[in-house]
Amino acid sequence: LKGKEILDFFSNNMTIEKEHIKYILSLNGKERYLMYEVAKRVKNFFTVDYVSIKALIEFSNYCSKNCDYCGIRRDNLNINRYRMSNEEIINSALKAKKWGLDTIVLQSGEDNFFKDEDLMSIIKIIREKTKLPVSISIGERSLESYLKFKKSGAIRTLIKHESINKELFDDIHPDKNYYNRVNILKYTDSIGYVTGSGFIVGLPNQTDDDMADDIIFMRDENVRMIGIGPLIASKNTPFENMKNGSVVKTMNACCAARLTVPKAQMPATTALGTLNYNSHYESLKYFCNVVMVNITPDIYRKNYNIYDNKAKIDFFETLKELKKRNLKVSPITMKALSR
Ligand code: SF4
Repeated sequence: LKGKEILDFFSNNMTIEKEHIKYILSLNGKERYLMYEVAKRVKNFFTVDYVSIKALIEFSNYCSKNCDYCGIRRDNLNINRYRMSNEEIINSALKAKKWGLDTIVLQSGEDNFFKDEDLMSIIKIIREKTKLPVSISIGERSLESYLKFKKSGAIRTLIKHESINKELFDDIHPDKNYYNRVNILKYTDSIGYVTGSGFIVGLPNQTDDDMADDIIFMRDENVRMIGIGPLIASKNTPFENMKNGSVVKTMNACCAARLTVPKAQMPATTALGTLNYNSHYESLKYFCNVVMVNITPDIYRKNYNIYDNKAKIDFFETLKELKKRNLKVSPITMKALSR
């Protein structure tokens, strides 16, 4: 397919098949860039031709879970744990509003110190004071809790399925909570959240076939925000001696996801930026349309070490780099910058 044919193909609700996804995942060299150009056209046609900048507030690095790959897993005693106060969280959200960021993303480990009522109150205040959409990325809570957060004003959820192959999932999650996570995704979609999910590239024994299933799962479950990042071997975890996931494979997976779910919001993941700075921005050029800048106060940010040497995705550096690469930012951010 060429030029307009590509756009007609996707406009007619045609969707690519598993074999096509596996082919894209296998690409290398110049060929992969030809496919990336196709993804870029599809992205610009079906979504927007600018990058949305969202504000990420990592408000607690306590976690009751023990995922094998994660630097803030419960059993890692070598990090400083922190929780931001309600006031600090709200002040960070106000800063985001001032800068013209278009969504507040509240992220934490699974930390039950924050009761439902605490989070509901934080969400309500942020909504009242900033009028910005609020996303929550707080792990597995009960379905009732997710309903309460929705009623308090949260409109998006982020909960990565990590791998839809149950064996791979169980291998890296000691509590083997596969069905719970999938149920949360289905439930939050059914009550009107815009759901976000994603997976890790480079898990032990993972194949292209598995990753193609991950992408098809997200298409079929109406996942509208897709985050795909490489595995990063993190110190003081069971995975510390593992090989990092492949940058090229991650880029190919993003490309395949864009072509399979053309209208998706896709953040350029921090994990990709950590392994390769340039690929982070290339992914924004070709397939991704969102960047989450980290506005967690510096005293805390360094301790949200889900993996080592995590890239600092800073607002002003992001702006500078997007400009250098002729990538536009959203009108809302442009307006704030011109004030
Ligand atoms: Fe906790 Fe999420 Fe890390 Fe798992 S991946 S240990 S749920 S923060």
